[in-house]
Amino acid sequence: MINSERLTAEFARLAAMASPSLGEGEIARYLLERFRQLGAEVVMDDAGERAGGECGNLIARFPAAGRDGEPLMLSAHMDTVEPCAGVEPLLRDGVFTSAGETVLGADDKAGIAELIEALEVVREQGIPRGPVEVVITIAEEVGLLGAKLLDPQVLKARRGLALDTSGVDLVIHKAPCANKMRFEVVGREAHAGIAPEKGISAIEVAARAIAAMHLGRLDEESTANIGSIEGGQATNIVAKRVVVEGEARSHDPAKLARQTAHMVACFEGAARDLAREIGGELVVPEIRSEVISDYPRMAVDLQAPIIRLVEAAASRLDRTIEVRAAGGGSDANIFNGHGIETVILGTGMTNVHSVDESVRVEDMVRVAELLVEIIREA
Ligand SMILES: [Zn+2]
Repeated sequence: MINSERLTAEFARLAAMASPSLGEGEIARYLLERFRQLGAEVVMDDAGERAGGECGNLIARFPAAGRDGEPLMLSAHMDTVEPCAGVEPLLRDGVFTSAGETVLGADDKAGIAELIEALEVVREQGIPRGPVEVVITIAEEVGLLGAKLLDPQVLKARRGLALDTSGVDLVIHKAPCANKMRFEVVGREAHAGIAPEKGISAIEVAARAIAAMHLGRLDEESTANIGSIEGGQATNIVAKRVVVEGEARSHDPAKLARQTAHMVACFEGAARDLAREIGGELVVPEIRSEVISDYPRMAVDLQAPIIRLVEAAASRLDRTIEVRAAGGGSDANIFNGHGIETVILGTGMTNVHSVDESVRVEDMVRVAELLVEIIREA
């Protein structure tokens, strides 16, 4: 049923187009035409202009054919991580890899190629189906920017699949919510040799704060990390300024809020501890904390219709689906935040975000087969 040669050629074509985050112009122009050829009405939104990129998200609407039904969203992202300039996809013994200097970009082009092949098959076989909304986002790899800038009003679907994880016949139904944090510590500078008592070291404040913090794996569903620290000027100056950046994630929003408050409190506590009188004046180091909600959690019930749909489609192929949780955020978190019940479907890609990335043609065929059944059942 699946045309493996057509799928192989589609993947190779997509992989060879460089599409770094915010540099997706070429692939977007190609996909816009490709989805039009497949019978969709395609629009590009203004996310690119707002994010400073070459193009926006693509929304391809396939009207119902042969029967009515509730719309189904199918999504993937068109950007890849770097290095991705001049990707040379190599196919050897049924496995795609890059020539070695770049990523392959199977993340997420395997998903796009599978989606296109499934839509080809559904069309050529005249399989009756409800409306399908394909959403191909930009800039997923740099903080889900495209999905965050997508106006949810343009979508009718209330359920969807994001093709964007390793594995085959695999569904991710849970992912954490996350906060990003930035702490700026401002102490007081002084000559480190002549008058250290006139200064308060921002480095010392930051060090105390971080030493007091619970970090790493906090429990089975929560993590926290300090990822960068920058500051100070010279060994003979008591450091005035330090900037520390970190994050926290949890599957439980209440735990995320508690951990975030804890990290902020550690900085404020350290500043109070190191406050002292300098020349008759009480000097308290200043803490400027900034907390940004990075993405909301994804927690789709195991009995949800979208999971039932994938399971029903799989059973038509005599397959079972593994459903599990993941530790990272993706576009699916954003879609769920907009009330579109979305789970992530495995695309067969492996070793993503590395030059050893690969994908087997056989696995892409399996995913495309499953997608055809999902569209038929939806
Ligand atoms: Zn991805």
